[in-house]
Amino acid sequence: MEKLLKVVSENDILPEYRRTPVGQLLEYHNLNRPFDTYDKAQLLIGMCMDNRKHLHIPDNFAFIIRSGGANLRYSEFKVSYAIGVGKVGHIALIGHNNCGMVNLVSRKNEFIDGLVASAGWDRDRAEEHFFHFAPMFEIGSETDFILSETKRLRLRYPKILIAPLFYLVDDNRLYFIKE
Ligand SMILES: [Zn+2]
Repeated sequence: MEKLLKVVSENDILPEYRRTPVGQLLEYHNLNRPFDTYDKAQLLIGMCMDNRKHLHIPDNFAFIIRSGGANLRYSEFKVSYAIGVGKVGHIALIGHNNCGMVNLVSRKNEFIDGLVASAGWDRDRAEEHFFHFAPMFEIGSETDFILSETKRLRLRYPKILIAPLFYLVDDNRLYFIKE
């Protein structure tokens, strides 16, 4: 985790994100900044669906898209909606350690057996489902994926400020990923 930059004081917030909604997110979550009142979303947060993560942020502060690995490749219309209609100018992409979307193939049998046992699927259909979708949702490495997804989104939405962040499930704190 040598790529992670700690945020334990306002000075740790990278200059380009200070006094922006990304900086505020870090202040609320990591630094216990008292909550301000919002009547509209200030930013879009993309984060994993994983149950171990909970953000400490005010009501109305953010749109949040949760998907495996914080992968927004298949949520683009929702990203565009948050920008076009929701008028947000910032995106925080939040990966986390021990993400289930890394090395999906190691959980192939569990995935297939679970669908057969719990959902009533037949084995062939469950296998086909896994092999069709696993390559689309595999992220490889939690930090590298967030950095590549950040680059992709910056090209796609050039006027939006996009920050690659990381949630360490061991201490429940947010970090910058060093670019
Ligand atoms: Zn995850």
